[in-house]
Amino acid sequence: MGRIRVLPDAVANQIAAGEVVERPASVIKELLENSLDAGSTSISIEAESGGRRLLRITDNGCGMLRDDAMLAFERHATSKLSSVKDLFSISTLGFRGEALPSIASVSRLTLESHAPEESTGTRVEIHGGKMIRCDEAALANGTVITVRDLFFNVPARKKFLRSDQTELAHIASLVTHYSLAHPDKTFELRHDNRELLHVTPVATLRERVFQVFGSHILDDLIDIGEHEKEFLLPDPPQGVPDEERTRVFLLRGFVSMPQVQKYNRNSIYLFVNGRLIRDKLLLHAMQAAYHNLMPPGAFPFALLFLDCDAEEVDVNVHPSKTEVRFRHGSWVHDYVRDAIRGSIMQSRPLSSLPMQAPPQPAARLPYSEFSQQMENAALRQVIPPDDAQGVQPADLPSFTLHQPLAPAPRFEFNEAPPPVPSTPATVRTRIPDTHGGLPDGVVLDSVHSLDILKDLRPLGQLHESFILAAGRDGLWIIDQHVAHERILFEQVLRQRAAGRVEQQALLMPIVIELTAGQQIEYAQIADELRLSGFDSEPFGNRTIAISAAPAAVKPGDIEKILFEILETSERELRGATLDEVRRNVCATIACRAAIKINMRLDQQKMEWMLAELAKCEHPTNCPHGRPIALRYSTRDILKGFHRI
Ligand code: ADP
Ligand code: MG
Repeated sequence: MGRIRVLPDAVANQIAAGEVVERPASVIKELLENSLDAGSTSISIEAESGGRRLLRITDNGCGMLRDDAMLAFERHATSKLSSVKDLFSISTLGFRGEALPSIASVSRLTLESHAPEESTGTRVEIHGGKMIRCDEAALANGTVITVRDLFFNVPARKKFLRSDQTELAHIASLVTHYSLAHPDKTFELRHDNRELLHVTPVATLRERVFQVFGSHILDDLIDIGEHEKEFLLPDPPQGVPDEERTRVFLLRGFVSMPQVQKYNRNSIYLFVNGRLIRDKLLLHAMQAAYHNLMPPGAFPFALLFLDCDAEEVDVNVHPSKTEVRFRHGSWVHDYVRDAIRGSIMQSRPLSSLPMQAPPQPAARLPYSEFSQQMENAALRQVIPPDDAQGVQPADLPSFTLHQPLAPAPRFEFNEAPPPVPSTPATVRTRIPDTHGGLPDGVVLDSVHSLDILKDLRPLGQLHESFILAAGRDGLWIIDQHVAHERILFEQVLRQRAAGRVEQQALLMPIVIELTAGQQIEYAQIADELRLSGFDSEPFGNRTIAISAAPAAVKPGDIEKILFEILETSERELRGATLDEVRRNVCATIACRAAIKINMRLDQQKMEWMLAELAKCEHPTNCPHGRPIALRYSTRDILKGFHRI
């Protein structure tokens, strides 16, 4: 007799469960997807003890017929797929027919379901994959699945579960994000009898974001609108008409302004055809969209929905269905990158000053405590430590970045302002032409607003740290350090790309000692350092000698810069691309070499700075993502003086 045996179903199911069911949140993901596939409009989830003691999901979907309710627990039993052909045009979230048998094999599961086509419902109970009972029962239409004692029969798995709080956080994040993908449905989440989330149907994604995160998060987000793009299949079989060669892609959602920075990718939510996924290609496209607007190792917040023809995306890549493969991946990559980049650029992440106190957050939703936590977690801004000496953040005026910046003032200078209410109607004052340069009738256009930088005229300095400037569209305040940092960064990058970084030779080499870790990092980035202008050589064990440095850097700063580069490399750039390493090196040089705040600048220097800033490719944020300029628009000024 041979040695190979076919595994009994019970064992096969437990093996499959290893892939599908990792933790309580993965159970919820599968059950939630089933409820959505069943056409439910209201889904309610209960959990106890982080989901390990109990998980229950109640939906008002199509329910299951009696025979189906039993069949559903057979391996590969699905109503969503009947042939291999269907596999290439999947429009449901599930299709593998694995979830229910897998979950039932590692828990005590009860299914209660009633399809309106039958007069009564069905209750099925399965413990560790064994059918305990199957009865008729009087039940409401829809389905309730209760999962108790997850992994009771797989102690090895149970050991890997984290604290209740952590498991709950995973569940909450999952439910929250599915709720964002379906603004038209009701979602409810309760834990140990406390309500954590309850959202009722709304018409738009924007309203759902508001329900889930509260109002002020919206102010830090850019609505990218709807980017529809057609892709024409390159090599269609002969005779196929154009409309059949066309594939339509639609991208919509929200991304954060560059100054919102996260340490990891956990705040990037990508949905492809309604399915929450983690996809390297799309993550890369996101990162490429923020290229040079954020430091390497920082990530944005994003909530993106990509919809396309089912044939364009293979969802059958991984059992948990969290990965996809695009048929025309590089086209999708560039399309997503350009759509996001375009939206970021158009929204002009120039910060403006609030006129009044920031708007109060809208009335909190019932699960305020939870949403507050989610919100904090979602938008905790990581602001790099200020390297400016002398001025502590607390000393600086506290600018709030709450105003949506998009619509720039459209204001006609030859138009008389409406009378101030208390003024007699006959008194019509012309608006003072404060900038002094524009002829009557010039309309300030919002689209090419970055051109406005070219016309900035320095008026003076505030606290020897900020340049005040008059522009065509109002008053500008520019952080001199951050602006100079951006100018130098782009300059170093340009010189670096052209292969001619200006260098200074050192009379005496600077010898520095490295730790073992730094030594490893140094070996990895030595080439990049050389190309960026640092000439260095190993000098004995764990010691290097630097004989030349970039011209922009003060000799006294060289050692510090080098350590800083090595430290960032160690912390953030593990597995980073060469390009990220390069940007890190350039950003560090720029930051060190840039003038500090608390430094007097004469008129000429200020003019030079503004002119150079106007030439920058990305004059809105420093390489660390901090805003460079705040703008007090003419419209706001006029409003402030009650002239409009
Ligand atoms: P899949 O979702 O891949 O088809 P599952 O094991 O998750 O496989 O579910 C098996 C079948 O059970 C589904 O195809 C569907 O017909 C039925 N089903 C599961 N959950 C529900 C539900 N909440 N409402 C109605 N039918 C359901
Ligand atoms: Mg399923």
